[in-house]
Amino acid sequence: MSKFLVIGLDGATWDVLRPWADEGALPALARVMEEGIWGPLESSMPPITAAAWASFMTGKWPSGHGVFDFFRGRAGRWRLVNGTDVDGATLWRTLSDGGRSVGVLNVPLTYPPEKVNGFIVAGLLSPDRGETTHPAGFLAPYRKALGPYRLTPSALYRPGQEDAFVADLQAVMEQQIRYALRLAQERPTDFFMVHFLATDIAQHALWRYMDASHPWHEPRLAERYRDVVKGLFMRADEALGRLREILGEERVALVMSDHGFGPVRWTVNINMWFLEQGLMKLKGGARSRGRGWLARGRVRDGLARRVARIWGRETLLGFEDVDWSRTVAYSMGHLGQVYVNVRGREPEGTVSRQDYERVREEVIEALHALRDPETGEKLVLEVLRAEDAGDGPYRWQGPDVFVTFKEASAYPMFASDGRVVSERRHGNSGDHRREGMFAMAGPGVRRVGRMEGARIVDLAPTIAAMMGVRFPVQGDGDVLQVGLSSGGWSSGEEKGGASENQAGAERMAVLSREEEEAVARRLRGLGYLG
Ligand SMILES: [Zn+2]
Repeated sequence: MSKFLVIGLDGATWDVLRPWADEGALPALARVMEEGIWGPLESSMPPITAAAWASFMTGKWPSGHGVFDFFRGRAGRWRLVNGTDVDGATLWRTLSDGGRSVGVLNVPLTYPPEKVNGFIVAGLLSPDRGETTHPAGFLAPYRKALGPYRLTPSALYRPGQEDAFVADLQAVMEQQIRYALRLAQERPTDFFMVHFLATDIAQHALWRYMDASHPWHEPRLAERYRDVVKGLFMRADEALGRLREILGEERVALVMSDHGFGPVRWTVNINMWFLEQGLMKLKGGARSRGRGWLARGRVRDGLARRVARIWGRETLLGFEDVDWSRTVAYSMGHLGQVYVNVRGREPEGTVSRQDYERVREEVIEALHALRDPETGEKLVLEVLRAEDAGDGPYRWQGPDVFVTFKEASAYPMFASDGRVVSERRHGNSGDHRREGMFAMAGPGVRRVGRMEGARIVDLAPTIAAMMGVRFPVQGDGDVLQVGLSSGGWSSGEEKGGASENQAGAERMAVLSREEEEAVARRLRGLGYLG
């Protein structure tokens, strides 16, 4: 039975890591690549942190576990998700039920923490205070020596305040590494996992500085911030090396990400496009008409924001202005999630099941007509229908269409101005890509180098199998056989079975209003919420 060390690097891609590994800046990762297998890792659709980590922990696509985004909702009404929204046994639940000890530090969507054999320190989407660990008060004994544990950075990226933002990211990461090293020494569980979020946050904000081909690249500022992202990955790499020393080499080391990253320049206001295309209609009321007029009037972002603020709202137009009885499609979510306003499914649905396919094709056609404002080229890279992104019990609850843009992401809800495609120089210059990464080495892993075709849903069944525990069969993932030495884990040694999620009140704990608002603020700062 293998033991595991897993390092989760949020938003890591080989595009970024490979050159640094080759030049010697990431020696621990380079060693894992050298001694084992590595390659791209296909993320969930959409490749959003919450959805992708749920896919990692359950071995199912979002249509199987039910989490498609940081929020769950329809037609402009939503709430944040938490661990109880994930349908399916988590990897740590399965391992724990199979008699293995587990330690999970900081993985998103692990709040409320499950009562496993070992420990869980919940990650993103947890409240800052409250019971974020299992066992309760788990980190208290370390506080005096290591300082208070911080789940997420608190500084938000604003142009001109990069220094404070960067210092905060670094401080959180250092703190998490200190805790990880200490816990590895004192609680070397059979499965030991650490997740770093700072790499994702930093790439969103600072991509333009490390990518000299980005249109917003400013050489003067790049001097100062070019190496911030690299520095964070180097620290994660040092942590990987140290953790391998502490936990011992007779343990499999797996480095993986939830999704990749790439440059973005444009922000697409899909709902505004649907208004222009007649797929969405506004209410006839004067206020809504006024907003519609302002929005169509190519009002610049700054003025639009000021007017919106006078009205006491975030944006000029919102879902509350939509006349749902005459609307056939809308978008919610920052990576191009599009919904058909289906009767019986949506709160005020209009499209019958018989018309569904026809309307969906119309919507897809409209999306293909979006153009890059500068070059006039098509903005859409790929359109995926729901059934092509996985088939499970929650498929019908997720988006009907996933649209991926070239160097663009979408406004999660409505934009502050009325333009369909705008360039927000003060916003993110990097965003998620579907292709993430993994590298794995250790006992039972053959030295084969690059491997294609691995998917994030394959990791949990693979880890469970290598740890001699049977993974629930209902998942989408397969045990990765290619590249692993034969025998040993695929049968025979299996024991235990996994139960489904802990049912009842225990798993239904949700965030208080204040807690939810605090979490939402951070997600807004990252561009994930409207
Ligand atoms: Zn992520």
